[in-house]
Amino acid sequence: MKLSEIDISQVKDVGPVRQKALNSAGIFTVEDLLYYFPRRYIDRKTIQPISNILMNSPEMTFIAKLYKTKLFPAKNGHTLLNAAFSDGTGILTCTWFQGGEYISKMLVEGEEYIISGVPKYFSGWKIDHPVIERMDDEENLKNTGKIIPLYPLTAALTAKNIDSRTIRKLINSALLQFGHLLTDTVPFSLRQKRNYPDLLNSVREMHLPTDEQNRSLALKRMKYEEFFRLQLVLCRRRMNMKALPKSFRIDNAGSLMKTVYEKLPFELTEAQKKVVREIYDDLKSDRLMNRMLQGDVGSGKTVVALLAMLMMAGNGFQSAVMAPTEILAEQHYKVFSSLCEEIDVEIILLTGSMKKAVREERLAYVSDGRAQIVIGTHAIIQEGVNFKNLGLVIIDEQHRFGVLQRGELVKKAGETPNILVMSATPIPRTLSLSLYGDLDISIIDSLPKGRKTVRTAVRYEQDMPKVLDFIKAEVQNGRQAYIVYPLIEKSEKSDLQASNDGYEELSSGVFKGIEMSLLTGKMKSDEKDGIMNRFKAGEIKILISTTVIEVGVDNPNATVMLVMHSERFGLSQLHQLRGRVGRGQHQSYCILHLGEVNNDETVARVKVMETTNDGFKISEADFELRGPGEFFGEKQSGMPDLKLAHLIYDRDILNAAREDAFELLNSDPVLAHHPDLRDIMNEKFRDKVQFLDYS
Ligand code: ADP
Ligand code: MG
Repeated sequence: MKLSEIDISQVKDVGPVRQKALNSAGIFTVEDLLYYFPRRYIDRKTIQPISNILMNSPEMTFIAKLYKTKLFPAKNGHTLLNAAFSDGTGILTCTWFQGGEYISKMLVEGEEYIISGVPKYFSGWKIDHPVIERMDDEENLKNTGKIIPLYPLTAALTAKNIDSRTIRKLINSALLQFGHLLTDTVPFSLRQKRNYPDLLNSVREMHLPTDEQNRSLALKRMKYEEFFRLQLVLCRRRMNMKALPKSFRIDNAGSLMKTVYEKLPFELTEAQKKVVREIYDDLKSDRLMNRMLQGDVGSGKTVVALLAMLMMAGNGFQSAVMAPTEILAEQHYKVFSSLCEEIDVEIILLTGSMKKAVREERLAYVSDGRAQIVIGTHAIIQEGVNFKNLGLVIIDEQHRFGVLQRGELVKKAGETPNILVMSATPIPRTLSLSLYGDLDISIIDSLPKGRKTVRTAVRYEQDMPKVLDFIKAEVQNGRQAYIVYPLIEKSEKSDLQASNDGYEELSSGVFKGIEMSLLTGKMKSDEKDGIMNRFKAGEIKILISTTVIEVGVDNPNATVMLVMHSERFGLSQLHQLRGRVGRGQHQSYCILHLGEVNNDETVARVKVMETTNDGFKISEADFELRGPGEFFGEKQSGMPDLKLAHLIYDRDILNAAREDAFELLNSDPVLAHHPDLRDIMNEKFRDKVQFLDYS
């Protein structure tokens, strides 16, 4: 019997009502319950007497008895709740401006509560909207020194009166009833090597800590387990890749590549040359290429990609480039076509917005092999476009496709091409190894010669007239500018609205008489194309846009990038936007407008942009500030699902797990000697990788 197959209703004291509430918090099975870890712990040592509060105290935690609650009607139609607590050293009044009526029903006078919050003085000590939990007297009060776990509580849980105390009890029951079924999948030898407790003890320690030291060791072990599994996946995938037959091997760079290389309008940087060499070596070797190319915005990845594809074309193989947006795909098409003017190579663009007849015709080129280089969005793989002999797939701006999704993307091609993924958001170095551990990594770590640093300045609303005058002056000097508006809230409509309004206001105001245009993601592709072309040709002077221009757009004559409400962007995104200017010989400027921000942290975050141009530093800062979820975009981005472990703060554990996972698979490649681990891996990562014993 597996814990993941035992319904939560089997646990003592879980009836239909609780079952439903637990389900809504994502707890369906006993396993889910046992892995529902506390949000934080309260150690008796950290609990303070109310008399200890000082002016400007940070968050504090008290245990105090509720002696009185009182409801007042408030002006806005809400009901306000005051609750007075005492711990014998002082009185603390807690106030709820919302939901008071509901909370008052849950509070019981005479009971003890754990109360956390930032105290303030207003004729007595107060906390507004504290975090509050009923004390569990039987379990905890008598055992001074005990650590009390507090669980994440959703509204659905509290509505059914499930508080931390209840969860604690349910978990206790579950451990008694089913604890023996917890199978430890971390091999014994590794637990021994790392000095980790076994799974049952770790889980128990997470929920019912005996002391701080044991608890933190248990936590470490649980984090290790998360990383360990992830690394097993990466390692296995790397091994799978390396074992694949290679049908697209080349043994020379070919004349197409040589001709283009010699006629390039610039000399490659040393970093670019090194990477071209690495790719060439991969394509020549007996093993499939599976490489990630990282390079800051503007470092010149595109030309490297082209040279790689020309090597393939020169040897009779097809290549495909996948870009995240149609605009970018079209731009690649133009760049490639112009660099390849003098050679005979068939480059084909496939987009979703093409006329059906045109598309059909191009698809025929792809399937009979006439098309040597095929450019499109990632839809070209998803739609199962047929290639004759697809030997190389290049995925541009990899971070947008997600980490673990890459496998699927390529599998759909139904072939085993060489793979090059290119990332413009530099992933912090320490991370890329762990997240893309199944790839070889190449880095372009310098920019082409002669690039001027973009001057970056943060500006506030009141500075805007000056900023706009500055843009006007640049335009009058023959330069061009971008003005970018953020996604406002979630709806596309208001996004559109902001840039629309901005456009209306500016074009009839300060920029009257200057040729401007509005570009939004909603526009049809040929409309966007038309605008981009006119902008590149210099007819449109100021391009107002939502973030559709974020990636890759190239106009060397544009010298100003004004980002409105830059506080709503991630740093890596701002760095990308900044990369749109400073592409030619003119001094360029990035102006980051800050809206009404009353948060020092936000201001400090945006100001990082003023101090560095190094994409790696920026991504590191961004990642630390925002965490992996936002850093990589949506949840679906394929970021590994880590509940406890943190990719930056737990780096040491990650490295240990990585080392162990790789060592283990080297000696036991399909986990034949670790059947429990193999089963759980096959179950949990079903769609990512399989550990199969073919023997
Ligand atoms: P990214 O790495 O962000 O994709 P691109 O490949 O778009 O950067 O290159 C940015 C700009 O730099 C392009 O206009 C490209 O033509 C130019 N470029 C690339 N390599 C060099 C080089 N070695 N010397 C000068 N300019 C270069
Ligand atoms: Mg690019």
